Amino acid sequence: MNRAKEGKAINTYIENMFSPIINSHRLPQSVIIEGESEEKREECAKYLCAYAVCKSEKKPCLSCNACKKAFDDIHPDIIIPKPEGKTKIIPVKLLRDKYLPQAYLKPTEADIKIMIFNNADSILKDDTENTLLKIIEEPHSNLLFIFTCEKAHLLLQTIRSRSQIYKIPNENETSDISDTARNIAHGIVALYEDRLLVELSTLSQRDKFKSVMYDVSEILMKALSVSCGQKCDDETANELATKLTKLKLLALIDATKDAVEKCERNINLKLLSTYVCTQYRRISWQR
Ligand SMILES: [Zn+2]
Repeated sequence: MNRAKEGKAINTYIENMFSPIINSHRLPQSVIIEGESEEKREECAKYLCAYAVCKSEKKPCLSCNACKKAFDDIHPDIIIPKPEGKTKIIPVKLLRDKYLPQAYLKPTEADIKIMIFNNADSILKDDTENTLLKIIEEPHSNLLFIFTCEKAHLLLQTIRSRSQIYKIPNENETSDISDTARNIAHGIVALYEDRLLVELSTLSQRDKFKSVMYDVSEILMKALSVSCGQKCDDETANELATKLTKLKLLALIDATKDAVEKCERNINLKLLSTYVCTQYRRISWQR
């Protein structure tokens, strides 16, 4: 339960990152997850695994047995090679003798086998990567490779060119949150609803609507982390954190996610904007 709850709280930014995969329902053969924090990289890898093995209709549900096993590293179809003994690397022999035979077995619980190389930029050397490359190049349909690393450019170019690379946003980087998203965020806590309605009504294209909503959810996530005691130099996030409770912020994050889903279901954008405005105001001003 805890796990799923935790996952739910963190997954807005991860979900945004992987939305191309989730929206297209197509898993690539190989994924590279690049980011500074090892913890975040693993969380992202687990989320993607959960998506790949989840048994629910809306994947990843983060609460079915398959999802839980993915998050607890005990799913039988997820292989996580680790260096053995004193070496801090995975030699080709270890890969060939121990891990590849497992990868070639039929999946037992999921429809897919997954191999995760955590810290790939340090545990893999060129010869091991070249061995993996040959497998990635084979037209398998049910083997997914996930490489997590601090610096993707340390992996072979040939691996990179055959992988989809996802970069975890760095909290310290100057964010490029759009002004519209900031205005919407201010509108949520403003005294009158005019501003919010006006800003929302400028979103007349679906792509624009979605990208602004992603930015709004980023601001809300930041505000939530400020509420939880983290420091953040985003003024909008700080303002929201002083005006809204954690519960309200969580409800607003959910409402934003819901808006993106509705947008994808081709709901009329004008109606959707009005709906979102009502939802935001209801959450923000309810007692
Ligand atoms: Zn699930």
